[in-house]
Amino acid sequence: MAWMSRAGMCGPAIIASVDSLLRSVRAKQKDIISCIRALVECESPSDDPAAIGKFAKLFSEMLSDIARVRMHPGKHLRCEFQLPGSRKQSQILALGHFDTVWPLGTLKTIPFRQARGRLWGPGVLDMKAGLVFFVFAMRILRELDVPVRRNVVLQVNSDEEAGSSTSRLLTEDAARQSVAVLVLEPGTGLEGKLKTARKGVGDYRITVQGRAAHAGLDFEKGANAVVEMARQIERIAAFTRLDRGITVSPGVIQGGTRSNVVPAECHVDIDVRAPRTADARYLERCFASLKPFDKRCKIEVAGALNRPPMERSEGVRRLFQTARALATELGVIVEESSSGGGSDGNFTAALGIPTLDGLGAVGEGAHAPHESILINRIADRTALLAKLVAAL
Ligand SMILES: [Zn+2]
Repeated sequence: MAWMSRAGMCGPAIIASVDSLLRSVRAKQKDIISCIRALVECESPSDDPAAIGKFAKLFSEMLSDIARVRMHPGKHLRCEFQLPGSRKQSQILALGHFDTVWPLGTLKTIPFRQARGRLWGPGVLDMKAGLVFFVFAMRILRELDVPVRRNVVLQVNSDEEAGSSTSRLLTEDAARQSVAVLVLEPGTGLEGKLKTARKGVGDYRITVQGRAAHAGLDFEKGANAVVEMARQIERIAAFTRLDRGITVSPGVIQGGTRSNVVPAECHVDIDVRAPRTADARYLERCFASLKPFDKRCKIEVAGALNRPPMERSEGVRRLFQTARALATELGVIVEESSSGGGSDGNFTAALGIPTLDGLGAVGEGAHAPHESILINRIADRTALLAKLVAAL
């Protein structure tokens, strides 16, 4: 991203813009920040149903005057906005999540704060600020009476950081009704690049069954599952094809009971990532080819890609070009990027629905203690969402 000044020079300063949406967002920046603060200070780890429930209630109240909010099983929220414009056709789906990777009590060590041009705090970037941007974008469309041609639905899931197992069908159903999906995940890097491709993500679990024996009395009768797994892991790690963007990363290993027992069982959990749908078959073939070195051991394979890749389709490319043109009106140049991480946008893109991701906040440190967003990018991101909804 670069700011284009009136003289056509690039620099970090914020330009004076005549764009009325941008002006309206700037006038509300204080309110936007206090809403972000309220959401960050309401902790919402994926695995804490009570906290998730509290957050869902708080967020529902935040937009109850401009949207009809329904809570689905699993505490996923579907918010249908009431926006200007008559005879609406089809639908735009905005997609986000309100769960975070941060356990309850994180605020004691990493409190919300505003300093050095940023807002800091657990979940601020991934992705509570993005949710607030979208709500304010819709508020401003109403206030300026900008007509919108589509029905606009914001779906906010409560389990994205935990794999979206209970929200996936809901997300896919909503996407099928939509002409476009706008994903409010953070942009890439401090430039806030939009995301037009994401790798597919999956987990595999390999189990080796060996044979237990006393490590001293019956050593030869044992088939050591840990030793067998150690040899398998070298093979598994070699399934990585960096030239094709495919990565295979054994991440967790468990095996054995005590040192004087030849271990009967060992597991390894493996993270896999792949940029193309066809790569899923390559991975399946690789894992199916595993054979034991020690014939007395058995190998079990479970797993698959559970988020399909978001490929840069023609529809995705066109959606990005629309966003880029609208951003230019705001004095901002947005670029595109591809990401190794998955989001709920992977599901919608895999259905062939044009999906643009990374439209949320600009910052850094997702899932890390320095998680933060840039305050001077709040206004243009919010205005861009408003423009996109009005244009699509
Ligand atoms: Zn996220």
